[in-house]
Formats: sequence, C-alpha cells, structure tokens
Amino acid sequence: MGKINFKNYGHQKNWISGSYFDSISTEKISVVSPYFDKEIATVSDSNIKDLNFAVEKSKSIFPYWSRLNVRDRAEVMFQLKSILEKNMDELAYLIALDNGKTVQDAKGSILRGKEVVEFATSLPSLLNGESSQVADGITCTLSYEPIGVVAGITPFNFPAMVPLWMIPLAITTGNCFILKPSEQTPLSALKIAEYLKEAGLPDDVFQVINGSRDIVEGICDHTDIKAVAFVGSSKIAKTVYSRSTSLGKRALCLGGAKNHMIVVPDADLDSTAKGLLASSMGSAGQRCMAASVAVGVANIDPIIQQLVKEANEFKLGVDMGTIISKGAFHRITKFIDEAEKMGADILIDGRNMTPPKDYENGYWLGVTILDNVNPDWSCAQEEIFGPVLSIIRTESLEQAMKIENGNAYGNAAAVFTTSGEIAKTISENASAGMIGINIGVPVPREPYSFGGWNESKYGHGDITGKSGVHFWTNLKKVTARWPESEEPWKKYF
Ligand code: NAD
Repeated sequence: MGKINFKNYGHQKNWISGSYFDSISTEKISVVSPYFDKEIATVSDSNIKDLNFAVEKSKSIFPYWSRLNVRDRAEVMFQLKSILEKNMDELAYLIALDNGKTVQDAKGSILRGKEVVEFATSLPSLLNGESSQVADGITCTLSYEPIGVVAGITPFNFPAMVPLWMIPLAITTGNCFILKPSEQTPLSALKIAEYLKEAGLPDDVFQVINGSRDIVEGICDHTDIKAVAFVGSSKIAKTVYSRSTSLGKRALCLGGAKNHMIVVPDADLDSTAKGLLASSMGSAGQRCMAASVAVGVANIDPIIQQLVKEANEFKLGVDMGTIISKGAFHRITKFIDEAEKMGADILIDGRNMTPPKDYENGYWLGVTILDNVNPDWSCAQEEIFGPVLSIIRTESLEQAMKIENGNAYGNAAAVFTTSGEIAKTISENASAGMIGINIGVPVPREPYSFGGWNESKYGHGDITGKSGVHFWTNLKKVTARWPESEEPWKKYF
C-alpha cells in the first residue's frame, strides 16, 4: 500500500473568491481518517449567510464568465488536465487519507474524473450550436447558453471524481459553480479549488462551502441558484430533487444502487471470477457501480469456486481499503449477521479480520461472500455499500431477469456469458441505465454519459457526456430577418 501517515491538517476553511475564507459559523465538523479512527482536520458547518455570500460573489462574476468565449473557458480545462496529472500523487493521497481508499484506487478515480475534464476541452466544437436558413430571408440560430449560478452536492465515496463529473462541464459551459462536498471527505475538493485557480479560473467562478444539511437545504431553496446536481443516497436525492424542482429550478439527483450481475454457466471462468470480485469489492464495495448481487443461472459452481479462490488472496490495505466510518462498519456487518441468521452459506467471512500493520484502529472489513441467498432477504434487497457479495441461485434466465427487474434501483446490471443471444436478451431487458456485457463495472467512458434509472436517479438526462452539457445549459433560438434591398453593398461604395 502507498503509505498513509497520520497527520492533523487543522481547520480547513471554505473556498470563496479564489482563496481560503473563514466561515461565519463557529460550528465545526470533525473529519476522521478511516485508517486511524482519528481526527485529521475540521471543516466549518457553514450557515446560510456563508452560502448567500458565495452566491453574491458568483453572481458578480457571471456576466463576465458567461460571455467569455468558450475557447478561453476551455483553456482552463486544458490547464487543469495537466495540473491533475502533475499532482496525481498529492490528490490521491488526500483522497486515501479521508476516504480510506488505497492510494492506487484513489488514482484510478482521479483518472476517471480527468476524463470529464478532457471531454470539457472539446466544448468549443460541441457548443458551436446550429444555424440555417429556415425560410426565404430568415435564419434560425441555436446556441447553448449558461444558466447562471449553479450548485453541486457530492457524496463521500468519490471525493474528487464526483465533483469532477460536475465542475468541468458546468463551468466550461459558462456557469458559476458552488460545491458542497461531503463533510466526511472534504480535503480533495479544496485541493481541486486550488488547482482551478492555478489553471487560470477567475476568482468567484468556483466556490466550496463546507457543511451539512443546512447548506444542502439552502442550496435547494436559494432563488439565485438556478440548477442543482446531487449525488448521494436515494433518500436524500429524492428530497433534494423535489425541494429544488418545487421552486422551478433544474435538478439532477443521482441516488443509491443495488446492481445485479447475471452469471451464466457458459461464461469464461477466469475473467468472470475476476469481474465478479472487482465489481463487488472494488472501493470496498462503497460505490454505486458495485454489483452486490450475483444471480447464477443453473450450475455456476466452477465459477464460484474460482471466485472464492481469488477472493481468498485479496489483501486488506493492498487490494482493498477501509470502510468510511464506524457507523457504516456496524451497518454493513448487521446485513451479514442477518443473512447468517436466515441461513446463508458464508463462503468467506470478512468480519474480525486482522488489520494491516500500523492501521490497527482502522475500519477494516474483509471480502464477504454469501451463497444461497434468498432474493427477499435484506442483503439481496437493500444497498449495503460494503464488501459483501450475495449469490442468488436460479434455474432460468427468466427467473434471474425477474430478480433484476424486481429491484427498485436501476443504476447498473451486468451479464457474464459467451452467448451473444443471452447477452442481447439481458441488455435489452435489464431495468438499469448502464449495462455491462462481461464487464462488472460498466461505467461508460466519456463522451458516453453516466446515469442510472428508477430509484437510482431523480431528474432527466445524465450527469456527464453530452447529456451533462445539456443539463448545464439553456437552448436559445434566434430567428432573424433583415430588411432586403437589391444590392445592399451599393449604399457603402
Ligand atoms: P449521503 O446521501 O449521505 O450524502 C450525500 C450528500 O448529501 C452529502 O454532501 C451530505 O452532506 C448530504 N446530506 C446527507 N444527509 C443529508 C440530509 N439529511 N439532508 C440534506 N443533505 C444531506 O450519501 P453518502 O453516504 O455520502 O454517499 C453514499 C451514497 O451515494 C450511496 O447511496 C451511493 O450509492 C450514492 N452514490 C451514487 C452515485 C451515483 O452515481 N448514482 C455515485 C456515488 C455515490
């Protein structure tokens, strides 16, 4: 593992007007490293006055930023890309420290975020609109216009990647962006603020307000914030969506997930076992793309045996980081305890693992694989958000499909098979926004957009790709007719 050392970074201020800025609030939130179970920093539990101030600042720069040509705005993204590459180690370290990921895993997440930055550099060609003559002497021009001051609210599990889903497209399209990062993992968002300044972003185009519920509600209610993007649990996503849209603002709120991998006996043994393991255990299962249910069709025993063999070689702290908090640790182990009580076969038990040396107080939970799980049990129904894979055995594809379709969420689904016909059937019938065929984590690469269905998303469209560009812009259509004269240039010459 890249070595993580304990250090207290002290109080981290908000980021307003291009520099660190004290909150009006004296309330503080403790940021605890899951590697050490110790405070590594504090952030302000900011109040509405802080938010109002940030909004006023953003409003003051909006006329300039929104009218700047898109090539100059995109230039900031070219610079940001290089800065992210240059500072990859620094940013990955901060992500690992407050989130509990391994440094390697953190780097992978930065690369994914950087893809959106790269996509944003292409906006000068994507935002060039359309223009044509629609009738004799009449032209119609369509352009993508920024909305105004907009905001993003992000979760703990990808402290840099999820903000990077939003920031590049929101600001390159000409908006001013206010970020409320997760109070559990705020360090990397502030670092991104520094990088944006270094990239040449004018002060006030991007602000970070630390805090919790009050700031989220303030963002939903503020009449000068015109659009809200949210990523987090479904319960809060739904609330943020309805509260924001009730005031007429645009909202896109991505929620939780319960993703299924359908495994057919004809699937390739090695790559399927690896795919199941990577999908369910990557980021210690704390990602919305984690497939936490494997639905076996008929006899998939050889694949499960291979999975268990590979999983037994997984090393805590090397292949997998920690759980985010003590509370989350207990919530996850409760799912395992319950499944055990109900009669699940525990093929691998991650409870009571020996922690890696030097991190004895960390929130470590090992790979857990539960077999012969009943589709009605809580571990098969609810989002666990931990390194727990439940295996459900079925007799037919129809039964497997019914289980996938029956779940309320719809972020992703995957199928492992060598049959094109089966793959086609599953991808056509799965009720999810992102489908993997022999890929356990089917995150679309840019410019294909990221977003789920059903209870995994409230709002229309997706957060990245062209769909993200549409979310952060208004379409303007100008229809023009100019007085005609026979030879207009003659009056000048
Ligand atoms: P969370 O919902 O607890 O928090 C997300 C944000 O909402 C944070 O900024 C937090 O401060 C704020 N918040 C929390 N409680 C609130 C309340 N009562 N009122 C107003 N705001 C509140 O989510 P989390 O635990 O940080 O992240 C994990 C969740 O995020 C999982 O459910 C996961 O599936 C989901 N997630 C989804 C995606 C996706 O693309 N669909 C991506 C990443 C994470």
